[in-house]
Amino acid sequence: MSAPGRQLGVIVLGATGSVGRQSLEVLAAYPQRFRLVGLAAHRRADRMAELIERYEAGTAVMSDLEAAGELEALVGSRSRVTIEAGEEAIDALVRRDDVDVVIAAIVGRAGLESTFAAVEAGKRIALANKESLVMAGELLVPLARECGARFQPVDSEHAAAVQLLRGIDPAMLSRLILTASGGPFRGRSRDELAAVTVQDALDHPNWRMGEKISIDSATMMNKAFEVIEAHWLFGLPPDRISVLLHPESLVHALVELRDGSVLAQMGPADMRVAIGQALGGGELDLTECLQGFGQLDLARVGHLSFQPADEASFPALRIGRQALETGMGAPAVLSVADEILVGAFLDGRIGFLSIADGLEAVMQRYRPSPVRSLEDVLEAGREGERLARDLLSGAAR
Ligand code: MG
Repeated sequence: MSAPGRQLGVIVLGATGSVGRQSLEVLAAYPQRFRLVGLAAHRRADRMAELIERYEAGTAVMSDLEAAGELEALVGSRSRVTIEAGEEAIDALVRRDDVDVVIAAIVGRAGLESTFAAVEAGKRIALANKESLVMAGELLVPLARECGARFQPVDSEHAAAVQLLRGIDPAMLSRLILTASGGPFRGRSRDELAAVTVQDALDHPNWRMGEKISIDSATMMNKAFEVIEAHWLFGLPPDRISVLLHPESLVHALVELRDGSVLAQMGPADMRVAIGQALGGGELDLTECLQGFGQLDLARVGHLSFQPADEASFPALRIGRQALETGMGAPAVLSVADEILVGAFLDGRIGFLSIADGLEAVMQRYRPSPVRSLEDVLEAGREGERLARDLLSGAAR
């Protein structure tokens, strides 16, 4: 964290999404600490116009050219905001000298290139875009070291792990344990999952999130991606990262030490807490903010429960681990194939079980090949898309 008092310039990429909007709420609570330099989003011009009206941002970028025109028409002369269009404008925004912190909250592989730009520019990156590390961790981690960039995870489990690991001698660490709520279908058998609807799957018991990640929580692919993310963030081998079901979502991560103790991190199930932790680097006093968010009251919670993860009903966990162990582009293939299959489920084209079954089939067909550049990662992603679409067209016939 830089010297107290210095205002940090922040941009929010994926501003109109769930994490983007919650980030803006947190930023607005600390005007002395953060200055909003810019916002970027893909297509939702109406939502962007609302954000511009509520928060003062210097620049607003729509990656979709048509949406930029719409935004111009919506806010036009009524605001001092500079409106820009296209992917290159996002890239330029990320690299600006007055930007200290990049909140990377674009959903899916669309966020990959802007994360690379932020790493190359040596920024502090509040990383909500899991796909960046899932798809390209092996490139991004060494590149960040080289360029002086720093990742601060905007993911409750990883933000918790950062706190837990801060005071621990690495030699004493035995295992990192990520908790999982188990999503809306926890405890159901495979047969019981066959007929669930999109609405059932979107109905997450604890977290307020976007559609893609809600479905990933229901299949538990989200947790599989989080294991991969943790591997890159904390440099732990896959067999030292475990998943534990914890329906209340109040314990976010635990570390098992070699002295027989287990430390747990707890907090309210509210993304704004993880966002605040990432933005403040552990030094942001969230007390005032938390009054609005609801503080964790353990006496009221009463009890916490834990269960083993069920890989028979939720094979995504196993598929994700295998992809991490295979490497060679496999996680990138998995990530994009998942994006395509989740989209097909949301559109009502396939059933719930076909997401994980499809991913398994894609991974069996993928022929691993080395990843040495961003272009290789993107190519692996395109291969994941091709394999998933082939499968879908086969399924449709
Ligand atoms: Mg999470």
